[in-house]
Amino acid sequence: MKVICFECNKLIGEKTPFSDGGVTHTICEPCLKKTLDRLRDERRHKKGGHHPVTSTS
Ligand SMILES: [Zn+2]
Repeated sequence: MKVICFECNKLIGEKTPFSDGGVTHTICEPCLKKTLDRLRDERRHKKGGHHPVTSTS
């Protein structure tokens, strides 16, 4: 069966059983890196972007 990246739909390879014409999804290395970077970025943004408004002028 074919192994396809669910992020970019790139064909990564094949795995047993080869007679099975189905598709299984995984993530390729570039997309994994991108996803990890994005997650780290989002977390940083969330942390740094939250400023409670305490002063009113
Ligand atoms: Zn990919």
